[in-house]
Amino acid sequence: MIAHFDLDAFYASVAQLDDPSLRGRPLAISGSSRRAVVLTASYEARPFGIRSAMPLYRARELCPQLVVVAPNSARYREVSRACFAIFEAGAHAVEGLSLDEAFVDVPTDSLDAAVDYARGVRERVRAEVGMPVSAGVSTQKMVAKIACDEAKPNGLKAIPAGSEAEYLAPMPVGRLWGVGPKTQLRLAAERIETIGQLAALGDDAILRLFGRWGRELRELARGNDTRKVEPDRETSSVSSETTFEYDVRDVAEMHRTLSELSVDVAERLAKYGLRGTTIGIKIKRDDFTIVGRQTSVAEPTRDARIIEAAAGRCLERSTLGSHAVRLLGVRVASITEDTSEQMSMFVAQENATPFEGV
Ligand SMILES: [Mg+2]
Repeated sequence: MIAHFDLDAFYASVAQLDDPSLRGRPLAISGSSRRAVVLTASYEARPFGIRSAMPLYRARELCPQLVVVAPNSARYREVSRACFAIFEAGAHAVEGLSLDEAFVDVPTDSLDAAVDYARGVRERVRAEVGMPVSAGVSTQKMVAKIACDEAKPNGLKAIPAGSEAEYLAPMPVGRLWGVGPKTQLRLAAERIETIGQLAALGDDAILRLFGRWGRELRELARGNDTRKVEPDRETSSVSSETTFEYDVRDVAEMHRTLSELSVDVAERLAKYGLRGTTIGIKIKRDDFTIVGRQTSVAEPTRDARIIEAAAGRCLERSTLGSHAVRLLGVRVASITEDTSEQMSMFVAQENATPFEGV
């Protein structure tokens, strides 16, 4: 069975966890610059129409009593790690999609057993970390994720084996993975609006509408999703990066950030029993160009001080010109595994963006 977990209003929930005076209040996590956008809105802010990616000034217009809190990425990583450790207990494999979302392969064929596992995870995350987390349980990934979305906030929904197609049928086609707004419009012109209608299409129509990819999409629509939970087991690098809420020019602040990222990378290397000899940094400048530098150390390491020192040297050698910095990342590559330690099945995938240019 597969469980999908998603922490509710993650950044906002972390803020409410850390500051009880924020609980029950409309809250937005956002920077303070002129172009700041809402990163996460608490559930109390949503009835005002406040959504992620909305400009902050607009959110304040909609809800004058809105409380705005700055993001805290180090804290998000910490809370995420604590939650993922709970997902891992009793799981075959965990596939992280982001800091607040994961698929879990639960080693059972029984829906009841998988629901018990998911219920246990939700209780532990609530009791031990203090965070609300929703869960979807199914035989398949896409259905588990959709069920989790429907269970939000702070709920659990399970779809019994054999009823996947029936569950999906009345939903808009846009809920299917890979069907974006453009495709949805094109399908609406053909009067295909629900997943069930797409599932019922014949081979000719499927080929005409979607090409070679069509059969796969139809299988998803019919509730046949055979994809496995895939933990990132063959780790070639461990990295951590952070996007600033404002453009940074202060070199001391960049070094402080590299230090924080180095500690994070070192902790994860330790957790997975890894060391590396190549240490690199990634810099996204305010013109959105990405520059990188890397260096090698003689002995494979996971020592935060060594990583930080090497990252600092890379920063000093980087060409910033007159540019400010929007994002910094630290990466350790040329990884070797400690033979004495078992590598964990799960390696956090916080870094959707590859280290281009390093
Ligand atoms: Mg979430």
